[in-house]
Amino acid sequence: MKRIVVFCGSSLGYKAVYKDAAIALGNYFVHHQIGLVYGGGKIGMMGVLADAILEQKGEVVGVIPKLLKKEEVVHPKVSEMIVCKTMSERKVIMSQLVEGYITLPGGFGTLDELFEALTLNQLQIEQKPIGLLNINGFFDGILTQIGHMIAEGYIKPEHKKLFLVANSVETLMEKMHQYIPLEKNSIIQKVVR
Ligand code: AMP
Repeated sequence: MKRIVVFCGSSLGYKAVYKDAAIALGNYFVHHQIGLVYGGGKIGMMGVLADAILEQKGEVVGVIPKLLKKEEVVHPKVSEMIVCKTMSERKVIMSQLVEGYITLPGGFGTLDELFEALTLNQLQIEQKPIGLLNINGFFDGILTQIGHMIAEGYIKPEHKKLFLVANSVETLMEKMHQYIPLEKNSIIQKVVR
């Protein structure tokens, strides 16, 4: 994979394990020549991840909407900064630039981006691996909720394969590389049934 988009918090969280995970992912990207595409911020997990890569001369592309492009927020040193009009346009641009998605701990913005990626892949508008780095069991609650949604008939059981979960960077990246997209047509079968 040449480029991966990482969704992660504009906050750092309270525990050092989360920051360490962002740095570990950044190191992996540099050592495997994978470019980072992200939200373009210098704050929180986003800033830690971008800095880890930039310090080692890796590639970092930020995609930021005009409304967020303020000095306190925007990273001044990325390889390239794409300024777009809206939050929605940002997600489209980010998805066009990458071969896969990774989600690190974050808040509403992070979950919004993750679920948009899952929805696009569920509809087979695109077919890219979507990884969750489940550091410290951060995503356990969401995984439980997704299990509940499957059990209650709102998510097809096979769509569980749309996301890959691991608690270490190496295992997650292995899963990303080995990802086999869902068979085409499953959405059409769903509609016909
Ligand atoms: P959150 O998880 O709510 O902190 O939001 C983080 C995600 O939303 C990131 O992946 C960004 O793409 C976007 N985002 C939210 N706030 C900012 C910000 N202040 N600067 C840049 N991007 C942001």
